[in-house]
Amino acid sequence: MEKDFAGRWEKNRTTNDGGWVMNNFERQIASINEDGLFSLDIDTLQVNMGLRCNQQCIHCHLEASPRRREMMEWPTMQMVLQAARSAGCQLVDLTGGAPELNLYFRLFVTALRQEGHPVQVRTNLSVLLEAGLEEMPEFFRDHQIQLVASLPCYLEENVCAQRGKGVYEKSITAIKRLNALGYGSKTNLPLNLVYNPGGPFLPPPQSALEEDYRRELSARFGIAFTRLLTITNMPLGRFRTGLGRQNQEGDYLQLLQKSFNPQTVAGLMCRHQISVGWDGTLYDCDFNLALGLPVNHGAPDHIQSFRPADLMKRRIVTGAHCFGCTAGSGSSCGGALV
Ligand code: SF4
Ligand code: SF4
Repeated sequence: MEKDFAGRWEKNRTTNDGGWVMNNFERQIASINEDGLFSLDIDTLQVNMGLRCNQQCIHCHLEASPRRREMMEWPTMQMVLQAARSAGCQLVDLTGGAPELNLYFRLFVTALRQEGHPVQVRTNLSVLLEAGLEEMPEFFRDHQIQLVASLPCYLEENVCAQRGKGVYEKSITAIKRLNALGYGSKTNLPLNLVYNPGGPFLPPPQSALEEDYRRELSARFGIAFTRLLTITNMPLGRFRTGLGRQNQEGDYLQLLQKSFNPQTVAGLMCRHQISVGWDGTLYDCDFNLALGLPVNHGAPDHIQSFRPADLMKRRIVTGAHCFGCTAGSGSSCGGALV
């Protein structure tokens, strides 16, 4: 389904002869590339290990929370290991919820590293202070795990407004622990922080904001990090619910659409990665996962039938939310695109 700009949910439609009716995003893409949006390779295998999280952020596109029970099981992880082997991807990117809360997290990471895959974990930082996870920073270091950590502002007030009371303090404590192990200063232990806007507006320029973060976090806490990644809020999940409550959804969707930047299209993350849901379903990205829109157009849509040759050049499933990736400087799990 896609959301149109009058605020209704619409099903993608087919013509009487089985043809595809383009949505707004596809029409925009067709204006620069009439073949439409296709993947180019699978550099990254992103794995959503479950929707359980110790936090319940108001911007969460997956509506993760401590109450969610969806978790990836070990047999699915074994199929992911096989897929990573066959795809020869350059990175396995673990996300959630809080991936560290999955019971098989350490086993899975260890198996991936033993097979030589570079592994990145998207951590919310505060989870590293949870009971039973105190040794996780050392585990990360010992397995040379790359870290991406959400810290949507260097100011406490803004972080707590988005992510909950006490989260800022816990996040700073966790970063200090990671810094003490070499994260954020040693080249083999990257610690990238993630900013997302505190409302329905686009992120400021990434490099300028990175300078602000570096100056402020260093002055306040002596904290070091590798890079800052700016990510646009997607009109999905809890963020979309919040927009609806404030009657801002239509305006935000229009802002995203009118900010379309054709230079972002080459680097869209769905063109270079594939996302595995906690139950093994394949998605073009984590946002399509949030919407329940699996890989389509004839490509296999489950990890048990993962065949790189059939997935490498697949047609991407899109919707109005895709304008969140192409607005302004663009947005991806790796930050701005241009
Ligand atoms: S945004 Fe991240 S930390 Fe926050 S609830 Fe969602 S998964 Fe958890
Ligand atoms: S939302 Fe997903 S499918 Fe759409 S452009 Fe962004 S990465 Fe690609």
